[in-house]
Amino acid sequence: MARHLITSAIPYINGIKHLGNLVGSQLPADLFARYMRARGHEVLFLCATDEHGTPAELAAAKAGKPVADYCAEMHDVQARIAEGFRLSFDHFGRSSSPQNQKLTQAFAGRLADMGLIREVTEEQVYSVSDGRFLPDRYIEGTCPNCGFESARGDQCDNCTKQLDPTDLIDAHSTISGSTELEVRETKHLYLCQSELKDDLAAWIDSKADWPILTTSIAKKWLNDGDGLQDRGITRDLDWGVPVKRGDAEWPGMEGKVFYVWFDAPIEYIACAQEWQDAGKGSDWERWWRTDKGADDVTYTQFMGKDNVPFHTLSFPATIKGTQEPWKLVDYIKSFNYLNYDGGQFSTSRGRGVFMDQALELLPSDYWRWWLLSHAPESSDAEFTWENFQTDVNKDLADVLGNFVSRVTKFCRSKFSEDVPAGGTYGAAETQLITDLTTRIRAYETHMEATEVRKAAAELRAIWVLGNEYLQANAPWTTFKTDPDTAAMQIRLALNLIRIYAVLSAPFIPDAAATMIAAMQTEDDSWPTDVAAALETLPAGHAFSVPENLFRKITDEEREEWAARFAGTRD
Ligand SMILES: [Zn+2]
Repeated sequence: MARHLITSAIPYINGIKHLGNLVGSQLPADLFARYMRARGHEVLFLCATDEHGTPAELAAAKAGKPVADYCAEMHDVQARIAEGFRLSFDHFGRSSSPQNQKLTQAFAGRLADMGLIREVTEEQVYSVSDGRFLPDRYIEGTCPNCGFESARGDQCDNCTKQLDPTDLIDAHSTISGSTELEVRETKHLYLCQSELKDDLAAWIDSKADWPILTTSIAKKWLNDGDGLQDRGITRDLDWGVPVKRGDAEWPGMEGKVFYVWFDAPIEYIACAQEWQDAGKGSDWERWWRTDKGADDVTYTQFMGKDNVPFHTLSFPATIKGTQEPWKLVDYIKSFNYLNYDGGQFSTSRGRGVFMDQALELLPSDYWRWWLLSHAPESSDAEFTWENFQTDVNKDLADVLGNFVSRVTKFCRSKFSEDVPAGGTYGAAETQLITDLTTRIRAYETHMEATEVRKAAAELRAIWVLGNEYLQANAPWTTFKTDPDTAAMQIRLALNLIRIYAVLSAPFIPDAAATMIAAMQTEDDSWPTDVAAALETLPAGHAFSVPENLFRKITDEEREEWAARFAGTRD
């Protein structure tokens, strides 16, 4: 038994995520966690909401709520939707937790002790009537390039020109509308990542088994241009982790907070403390401190490609810089983007299907299966309603659902709702066992390597083997002349339903649970020995005929949904 620490990139708090976000981190992380648990390994699977920063403040202001209340509510919403998708986190934490606050301050203090934090004086726009420095997004004015009246301090959304807040004509605060803005000096802390560049480069080079998508992005940030830059880790904001040097005040940094990208990854560690403090486990340091038992932990992170620089460089710099025995990531699985029907998912324009909407249309297994079997691994992938309808109807309804339905109904009508006795294996069964064994071993290899699409293809092929066996051996025909052989075929097929449930559970947990319940067994042991696994349910063992596992998506539904999700969600 091995120990697996698994984290998914933590979703930002300001709103419900779309299916592209889901398949880029949380869903494949859940697949891996479920698989590792099914193989008997000890798993700690963590995720959280990423709650600090300007976008959270803006979203809360738009909702007319204090930002802390807004974040608490949105955390609950995201947690509920995660449950709807059966994401099996051991804990779903919050980056605004007291645990993360304390740990973030401790990391910063330690990095300062190690000489890896420097103070930098910068000029920034200050709003006199708001009494605060304004992030670029809080400043609007007229674009000097195109005359657009709502250009932001960092960029004009109309002509896309990159701007400095001081370029804007009639610049004003979006909080108060005040034009009483001035440029003032402000002091910030920088993490000296450049001093860790060689260490990080050697570490990345040692990860020959990582996906090229991961290492190529890391190397680009390490080497392009002037190479890895020192990074500001504080901001003049109210909402965030207050800047402290460990437990102590940080002179000159009063009223400032850590930048969201400094505290968010530290939440991976704090989340384990939250898990313990919530009474769900104990000894969290066993997972995170190599001096306290985490030496034998394998740590795998899942994320979209936009998050790779922070996970390959900034967060490892934070950890390495402390020279404390924190667990470093062993494998980073990154994903390309899932596009939506010829374009991109768009949160602002409501283009594409969002997680809450998906669950209103169909149970989570339909989405889980399609998304995982089309995971954007080697390149971007695309969701189309035609493809969704075709693949769900074929793989889930025609192949898996039909197998379960035919076998159980035939047995009930010709024998009984007990596993039938009689008959012995022939050449067809021996061949089936050989074929199943080959494919199940391949499935395990792909799952262990987090090759999501290949694993899905192998699972589909395993389902197909069962259907082909039924088709070729036709127990409904055999029954007329040789009921003993038909009984053997159906006994094997009923046992295959249990095996399918076990193998399929990481992808489609609800359907798997239905199949196991229908077989009236609690034995969900992995089919390491396929021949033995096919004898798990003995003759005389009672089963029941389940409701249809999957229904088909109709053409009318497909057309209606395509029109409904084409854009303009408010
Ligand atoms: Zn412009």
